[in-house]
Amino acid sequence: MIIDVHTHAFPDHIASIAMEKLEHSSNSKAYLNGTIADLLRSMDKAGIDVSIIACVATSPAQFNSIFTWCKSIAGPRIIPLPSIHPDSLDISGEMRKIKEAGFPGIKLHAEFQSFFLDEQRAYFIYQEAVENGLFILFHCGYDISFPDSDRSDPERLAHIHKDFPELKIVASHMGGWRQWDKVIRLLIGKDIYLDTSYTIGYIDENFLQTILTGHSPDRVLFGTDSPWKDQRVEVSLINSLDISSEFKKQILGKNAQSLFF
Ligand SMILES: [Zn+2]
Repeated sequence: MIIDVHTHAFPDHIASIAMEKLEHSSNSKAYLNGTIADLLRSMDKAGIDVSIIACVATSPAQFNSIFTWCKSIAGPRIIPLPSIHPDSLDISGEMRKIKEAGFPGIKLHAEFQSFFLDEQRAYFIYQEAVENGLFILFHCGYDISFPDSDRSDPERLAHIHKDFPELKIVASHMGGWRQWDKVIRLLIGKDIYLDTSYTIGYIDENFLQTILTGHSPDRVLFGTDSPWKDQRVEVSLINSLDISSEFKKQILGKNAQSLFF
């Protein structure tokens, strides 16, 4: 079973506008049109069984529309992650709703949500996630659309892990996009999941080898960041890594299965 723990999609009526905006701000071209239908086609081509769709609430008011959409698209092949904004006045109520609806976790993106990962405002979210047994998928490291901003610095993630050791953390982009030296210093070997999204092909071979050999093999998850990467190519990149076939199986699905199901 192949599980992609990091994809994005949008409701049909806003997909083209959202994609146009994101393509402009990131100065990159997407592989898909941002709809669920296109994602499912891509999954079929890549042999991917399940995709996690990461949503981001850029204001507290967006919770409801995102939550409602997530409920409408959830199914055997699509697991959406709702999102909570740190300025929400009802973090515990929203977290409870997410838990009761059966979602396994939430997504946070400090750049789009304008907070620093380790600031007090966000600590209510972490506390509630622990209490409800939900994991958090964090954008980590730099973001192509926000050059030089350190809101999602691996050091901040290390603070969260220290303060909430029971929090199930999924750290995107191998723990910190283009901050992999800090990942090696501060995150590898810790009880934190790292996802491979938007990493292979960018990360220096030596960094990648150091992370893959230094981190626990049951804490690495396959993610693509589709539609910004081609899922089929990303699967083949994992298969071409110089690691054991058992480790590949763990990355491509086994580890996610034990985290989500
Ligand atoms: Zn992403």
